[in-house]
Amino acid sequence: MTARLLDGKALAAQVRDGLRAEVAALADAGARPGLAVILAGDDPASAVYVRHKEKAAAEIGVLSRVIRLPNDVDAATVRAHVDALNADAAIHGILIQLPLPASVGDPRPLLERVHPDKDVDGFHPVNMGRLALGEPALVACTPAGCMRLLASAEVPIAGRHAVVVGRSNIVGKPMALLLLGANATVTICHSRTPDLAAEVRRADIVVVAVGRARLVKGDWLKPGATVIDVGMNRGDDGKLCGDVDFASAQAVAGAITPVPGGVGPMTIACLLDNVCRAARRALGKDQP
Ligand code: NDP
Repeated sequence: MTARLLDGKALAAQVRDGLRAEVAALADAGARPGLAVILAGDDPASAVYVRHKEKAAAEIGVLSRVIRLPNDVDAATVRAHVDALNADAAIHGILIQLPLPASVGDPRPLLERVHPDKDVDGFHPVNMGRLALGEPALVACTPAGCMRLLASAEVPIAGRHAVVVGRSNIVGKPMALLLLGANATVTICHSRTPDLAAEVRRADIVVVAVGRARLVKGDWLKPGATVIDVGMNRGDDGKLCGDVDFASAQAVAGAITPVPGGVGPMTIACLLDNVCRAARRALGKDQP
């Protein structure tokens, strides 16, 4: 068997096309969607991610503003920027690019300072809580992107066994909640799971978000399983690769996301979708 490729690049382009018209309509109604990104410090990977977000926003007509702060910035300064953006009617979404420099200390109070209605990353406890309760919420972009990939490939979820490998607050936990909300039976695995291969083998759908190059092997998979690979790593060969050993997994899975070109582009598309949702809500046209 050779797995069907779940092409995140193509799907993200479709999502952006749909959003372009919506951005224009919102702009006509007086709420051109606006995204502000706080980029503190000189982490090169963060600078690249923020450039991608700016470019994608500009392409569909979303206003984007990047606030660049030095490596030695303190928490009070970041907080003041968040407060100003919370009060700025032109900005519907606020994103604090992680990681923040060490000079800022614990990032959580800053993430929680972002108004929940502008929390387009979906990291605020209010949005995480709404997600857990099954209420409308701004949902973390990477798991939201994984769900859209599954939906567009018409992968059945209800009643299926989904295994999420990784329990981070930004990927694994919200992913598990979304799958549960879609009526999957969900297992969450992490670094203390004794027999990861055995857990993965039971999965109809496996989502891997660990950060270990090619951790999940093809012979761990149930034949025909759907594999969503969130990982972004540099392999020993210096090439970008996922948390799944693509070559061996492709021979067993029914469908699989490539890395690159799978989940990554969907994350940015879902960020833009969240900015539009927040703008709609500001116009009083939608729930969060
Ligand atoms: P974290 O480091 O925050 O979490 C990793 C999780 O993996 C933890 O829950 C950890 O368990 C678990 N884990 C670590 N080692 C093992 C192991 N050997 N077996 C089972 N579980 C293990 O990572 P993130 O969730 O932030 O990111 C995961 C990956 O996804 C990274 O490669 C990251 O670059 C990528 N990513 C990609 C995005 C995209 O847009 N494509 C967006 C966000 C992330 P424990 O909790 O016990 O420590």
